[in-house]
Amino acid sequence: MKDCNCIFCKIANGEIPSYTVYEDDDFKVIFDISPASKGHALVIPKEHYKNLFELDESIASKALVIAKKVATELSTELDCDGFNLLQNNEEIAGQTVFHFHIHLIPRYKNDNVKFTTTPGEIDKEFAEKLAEKIKNKLA
Ligand code: 5GP
Ligand code: ZN
Repeated sequence: MKDCNCIFCKIANGEIPSYTVYEDDDFKVIFDISPASKGHALVIPKEHYKNLFELDESIASKALVIAKKVATELSTELDCDGFNLLQNNEEIAGQTVFHFHIHLIPRYKNDNVKFTTTPGEIDKEFAEKLAEKIKNKLA
């Protein structure tokens, strides 16, 4: 399925040009237009899935294989010092384009990229109950 108003559908299917670093029948990997760091790329399926929850399972597994391959090549080429993979779902989580994608973000010593969270303290009772519930549901 394509969404005719979706910018990533248009990019992934070649209606809008992009700097493409990888392409196959199901995916395009492009450079982000507003990169967080030098070489910031996006893994985009050609089909429209709003987010992780809607993603087809075979596309989900292919996405990580492609992310690994492209991140490895970029890492060699850019000689960066590390790499973040980032994937946002829904506005509260920072998603701005509602077509599933994985960010590949090269990291460099002294870069100014920040993903800030404040470490909390685990609620053991909550963790135990939830782990049991989810484990049973997924068994
Ligand atoms: P999100 O916030 O949804 O996880 O990430 C969306 C990303 O898409 C942002 O990093 C943004 O810079 C990038 N982006 C938005 N529009 C375009 C575009 O037209 N072309 C490219 N190459 N990247 C885009
Ligand atoms: Zn789309």
